[in-house]
Amino acid sequence: MKLGIVGLPNVGKSTLFNAITNAGAESANYPFCTIDPNVGVVAVPDSRLDWLSDFHKPKKTTPAVVEFVDIAGLVKGASKGEGLGNKFLSNIRATDAIVHVVRCFDDPNVIHVEGSTDPLRDIQIIDIELIMADMEMVQRRIDKCSKAGRTGDKKAAHEAEVFQGLQDWLNEGRSARSYECGEDDAALIATAELLSLKPIIYAANLDEAGFSDYQNNAYYQQVAGVAAAEGAQVIPVCAQLEAEIAQLEPDEKKLFLDDLGIPESGLDRLIKASYALLGLISFLTAGEDECRAWTIQKGTKAPQAAGKIHTDFERGFIRAEVVSFDDLVANGSMNAAKEKGLVRSEGKDYVMQDGDIVLFRFNV
Ligand code: GDP
Repeated sequence: MKLGIVGLPNVGKSTLFNAITNAGAESANYPFCTIDPNVGVVAVPDSRLDWLSDFHKPKKTTPAVVEFVDIAGLVKGASKGEGLGNKFLSNIRATDAIVHVVRCFDDPNVIHVEGSTDPLRDIQIIDIELIMADMEMVQRRIDKCSKAGRTGDKKAAHEAEVFQGLQDWLNEGRSARSYECGEDDAALIATAELLSLKPIIYAANLDEAGFSDYQNNAYYQQVAGVAAAEGAQVIPVCAQLEAEIAQLEPDEKKLFLDDLGIPESGLDRLIKASYALLGLISFLTAGEDECRAWTIQKGTKAPQAAGKIHTDFERGFIRAEVVSFDDLVANGSMNAAKEKGLVRSEGKDYVMQDGDIVLFRFNV
């Protein structure tokens, strides 16, 4: 599961990406961190894991991670092959969701490719490139299905109709993401791997002054307006500051943020929001050897969650002993929670919840 970082040149993508890779390098020794300079793996901040780790003092603490890909070079005309246009678009195609970085700062020393800071225009430029790339894909699909439809293939004829409806929508400069249709049609459209259908988060990149009072920043408000219309999230960040924060030790980081009066860094918020955008949640295991957050899709049942740890756990699954993090903290220890009957015994149909602390019982 990975997110692509997109945006016009000079909006702060690389700065943000560097903050991500720095934060990642410090947090865990994931060997795949360095395989590709454009891919960064970063730990998902999780106060529950921090608590468990403080409590158990394990040999090892392993956080959940998300992967970001720096997709540089998207410019006006990319869908027509300007620059290395098509290469960038295919890089986006390989991601599961998009972080769209929007420049929300003025700085005469940092050239803006379009001449001025204008979040609405910038968002539209990127949107149009993604939409035009999609229109090409959709047209190919329509042509193929119409041809089959003419020889009497009813399913293909229907498919051509569905995609024509979408094409008319895209043609108005609107993203596939906001196209409304029935469940069956949506499932069909999902097979086309469209760029403007990917879930999205807007990262409004502000300067330090803008960041500290982002609610009242006019640029931020513009991005927030676009996001709200799409039902998407917007996260305020200050990429330059994030890059500095990412180099600090955890204790220093907390002091630094306290000084600024910020409860959580923009990057941490962005990482958490990205994880949620991918439909991911964490369950936790805790012990003297290791405390660990495990990544699952929302809606995963207990045996399949157990299978993330080891395939034997899934095959021999008997039950899961589960306590919610809040119940554990409120009672101070697993044993105290057990005495109060708060450690539940869950069977194979149990749907895992975010923050569940679990011990799986299984037959070998
Ligand atoms: P990219 O082309 O989108 O990857 O942009 P970069 O991350 O390379 O940033 C372009 C320039 O903008 C660099 O010189 C950054 O230092 C600068 N920059 C990034 N974020 C900010 C910011 O919040 N404020 C200011 N003033 N400059 C920034």
